[in-house]
This record gives sequence, C-alpha cells and structure tokens, in this order.
Amino acid sequence: MSAPFLSVRDLTVAFHGRQGDVEAVRNVSLDLARGEILALVGESGSGKSLTSLSILRLLPEAARMTGRVEIDGQDIASLSRRQMEDVRGAKIGMIFQEPMTSLNPVLTIERQMTEGLIRHKGASRREALEMARISLDDVGFAEPERVLRQYPHQLSGGMRQRVMIAAALALQPGILIADEPTTALDVTVQAQVLDLLVDLKSRYDSGILLITHDIGVVAETADRVAVMRGGEIVETGSVDAVLGAPSHDYTRALLASHLTVEKAMHQRDADARRMAP
Ligand code: ADP
Repeated sequence: MSAPFLSVRDLTVAFHGRQGDVEAVRNVSLDLARGEILALVGESGSGKSLTSLSILRLLPEAARMTGRVEIDGQDIASLSRRQMEDVRGAKIGMIFQEPMTSLNPVLTIERQMTEGLIRHKGASRREALEMARISLDDVGFAEPERVLRQYPHQLSGGMRQRVMIAAALALQPGILIADEPTTALDVTVQAQVLDLLVDLKSRYDSGILLITHDIGVVAETADRVAVMRGGEIVETGSVDAVLGAPSHDYTRALLASHLTVEKAMHQRDADARRMAP
C-alpha cells in the first residue's frame, strides 16, 4: 500500500468548560492512503466532525487542539493561513450532508465549479470549463452542459450531491472528506451516491474519509473502519475483520442495532462476484 496521504497522531480537541477542560476528541490516530476508504463511524456527539475539522484546520475558535496532522508529508500546523486555504480544495476535498451549505444559491453551477479550478489549479476559464464538464460527466450527468447553466435550486437533492462530489473531485484532491454524504438523501439515491464514491475512489485514486453514523454504509462502502465513542477510537481494522468479529462491546451494540448490515455485506459480496473477471 502507498504511504498515507493523511496521517493523524494523538489528536486531542478540548473545550474550556465551567468545570474545567472537556476533551471532546482524545488521542485519535489514523492514516489514510490514496485509493482507500476509511470510515469513521460512531453515534452523534462521538467526535467525528471535530476530527475532520481538525484535519481541515477549521475548528471553532474555542477549541484547543494538540497532536499532529500531516497531509502529503506536511505538518499542517506549520502552514500559513493562506497555504492552508490552498491545501483545502487542492489536496483535501470536502463534501457535506447538505449540499446547499457549500453551493452558493445565487451562482450557476458553471460559476462555482470553474472558480475553484481557476483559483486552485491555475486553469484558464476555458480549461476550467472543460474540466468541470468532464467531472460532471464522471458523476453520471448525461448532459453536463445543461447542469452547468443551472442554479442549485433547479436540481434535485441527489443531483446537487453529485454536483458537489464533481466539484470536489475536479480538483483531484489526494483525499476527500465526506461527512454524512448520504444522510439527507432517500434510500435509492443514497445507494447511487455510495456506489459513485466507491467508483470514483479508484478512478481518481483519492482516499476517502467517510464520516457516518450508519454502519450499513460502512459495510457497503469502506475498506477500513475506525469506531469512535466518547471522543476516542475504540476499535479499528479492516471492515471484514471489525464487522465480522467485533471485539468491543460498543461495536457489537452498533451492529446489533443495524440488522441491515448483514444484508449489505452479502450484497457487496454478490456485487464483487459479479464484477470479478
Ligand atoms: P459527531 O460529529 O460525532 O456528531 P462532534 O465532533 O460534532 O460529534 O462533537 C463531539 C462533542 O464535542 C459534542 O458532543 C460536544 O460535546 C463537543 N463539542 C462540539 N463542538 C463544541 C463547541 N463548539 N463547544 C463545546 N463543545 C463542543
């Protein structure tokens, strides 16, 4: 396997509270290489989002972070604010649960997609437009031209999510952070978007940090999993090992509450057999 593109060591995030400091994330370490999907799974409040915000250096002002985050061999604490802005987008793409939080409602898709490419990739407007067209095609839009002319509200939720994925991937980031990317979508569209992520991971050779509360999504999509609880990683390993024989009570409880997981794994096996040459 290639060297990790993202490496997090002993990450702790604390907030100052009335009764002293509260550690919302404690001693989290993880690695992510290009071309693999690592799922960070845990219930709401377990520290998943704070972990991803630390990687992006976007923690709230009140938070104090210790530990080390390296992206493509660089310690992000050593980067200026400006350099970090370049890292976001160019080296780390982001997609969120609700695309409207990152899509600007008053700009056409063309404008929002090309601006990032011009800024981060130094592309001309014409080159940027071509790159935008290609990635919209890659995420399955039959008529990229039409989508480029539209405003976000003219698209369905699933389409907006695909546009957001296309916009992030057009920049060819080493890693993509996907925070609950399918939670707001209905089940059929959810499956399509997850399939798309798995497909794009190989095609773009991006690593994906997939944040989810849904262990069914982990089973269907991820290569490795880290289970978070109360700010800590309580169990980590390959998806087959962790979900096949969980060693932590909490992982077992998560599994028990998601009976669909078995079905999803069977489906994945069936899909793998179907895809095998
Ligand atoms: P998750 O993404 O797993 O739902 P988060 O990373 O958002 O969890 O949050 C973990 C915990 O950190 C929360 O339960 C909360 O107690 C604490 N926390 C998050 N943001 C703040 C904040 N701005 N001030 C104080 N505590 C916070």
